[in-house]
Amino acid sequence: MEFKAWFQCINFECQSKYELTEIVYRCKLCGELLEVQHDMAMLKKRSTEEWRGLFEGRYRRNEWPYGSSVWAKRELVCPNISDENIVSTYEGGTNLFWAERLGQGIGLDDLWVKQCGMAHTGSFKDLGMTVLVSMVKQIMANGRKIKAVACASTGDTSAALAAYCAVAGIPAIVFLPKDKVSLTQLIQPITHGVLTISLDTDFDGCMKLVQEVCQKDDIYLANSMNSLRIEGQKTISFEIIQQFNWEVPDFVIVPGGNLGNVSAIGKGFQMFHDLGLIDKLPRLVCAQAERADPLYRSFLNGFKTFEPVQAQTTLASAIQIGDPVSYKKAIRALKAFDGIVENASEAELANAVGRANKTGLLCCPHTGVALAVLEKLVDRGDIKKKDRVVVISTANGLKFTDFLFNYHKDQIKGVQSDFAFSPMESAANYEDVKKVISDRIEV
Ligand SMILES: *Cc1c(COP(=O)(O)O)cnc(C)c1O
Ligand SMILES: [Zn+2]
Repeated sequence: MEFKAWFQCINFECQSKYELTEIVYRCKLCGELLEVQHDMAMLKKRSTEEWRGLFEGRYRRNEWPYGSSVWAKRELVCPNISDENIVSTYEGGTNLFWAERLGQGIGLDDLWVKQCGMAHTGSFKDLGMTVLVSMVKQIMANGRKIKAVACASTGDTSAALAAYCAVAGIPAIVFLPKDKVSLTQLIQPITHGVLTISLDTDFDGCMKLVQEVCQKDDIYLANSMNSLRIEGQKTISFEIIQQFNWEVPDFVIVPGGNLGNVSAIGKGFQMFHDLGLIDKLPRLVCAQAERADPLYRSFLNGFKTFEPVQAQTTLASAIQIGDPVSYKKAIRALKAFDGIVENASEAELANAVGRANKTGLLCCPHTGVALAVLEKLVDRGDIKKKDRVVVISTANGLKFTDFLFNYHKDQIKGVQSDFAFSPMESAANYEDVKKVISDRIEV
């Protein structure tokens, strides 16, 4: 059986098509975003039992390339790449953690955290980057010259691009906003030997520049405007369904910045639904930092208008984006999924992390935004005690130790840390240590 996919303009009146091996990011006719379309009629020729059997048989096995949870669904992701051009670190297959104690604390019986940060470069960005870099390798193998691959980033995209290009031996360039990414995020592209350019602007400024460079100098653009990445990221939804034994959760909450991921998660559930692999859709919730919340403002007016904002500095640095590329795709997904958009202040997101830390989760601040929004929706009664809820944890907390350190020292300006937990000091003798222990624990 042959499965086909192509780029298609998201403008319903246009719907122009392009080959996936063509270097094109926006529609050449109308300038609108593109998305990958699949030959659904062909895919539907396989029964739901066959699909389930195929995916179960491949899940977390070692056979190349199916040990990657992205390539294990290759027919639904990117069917046109040959095995030898796949660039993979065996991404996906991340734990769906039952957050029992955190759930109890906020009044939920069935709370789960999808640990997408348990990944090669510590964030979900690996899921999309494996598809994009594999396509670059395929294009190069077809004989077309690509000088380099470039992206603008709030930190995690550049880390993923750097790692995957280093694995494949493809030159890469990353544009980062100066002093706005964590030390770990900065050190990742540097260690992989990738050209790392620090710019005195914010993410939106970096984005404009990288687009100009890619257009003028024949360099391949790796931002999520490149919809190949969305295809890899939509496997988050496939995995959630598989991990729940083909049952659909009631709510999925995801932090949103450039809004590629919320679109991707919507697309994944929609595709499984179209193929008959699930019979309902979850409600989709996009969580934004109050200091960069253009989608939330649009939601408040029923998505009638969308205005970019000037993003302000937020602890959730990976979603500090005022002019998100994928807002139209996100709005489309949210409308189809009876979606909700909510925001969280700095204090709310930080304390949501602190609360989760106490139950064994080392969260990043973006996951904190999603958790803070979850608390709001529970308090408001939108989410009920028995609902099955999945929070998408987008990055590993270990990438944000500065934030965690400052939070637990109660040293974040404008934030009172409700769950701070600092180390105790003691003289090195039994009596003093015993006193420190008995202050905290009954002994
Ligand atoms: C990229 C990123 C996001 C936001 O995803 P978008 O697709 O830009 O909305 C959230 N959290 C982390 C940790 C990220 O790296
Ligand atoms: Zn078009």
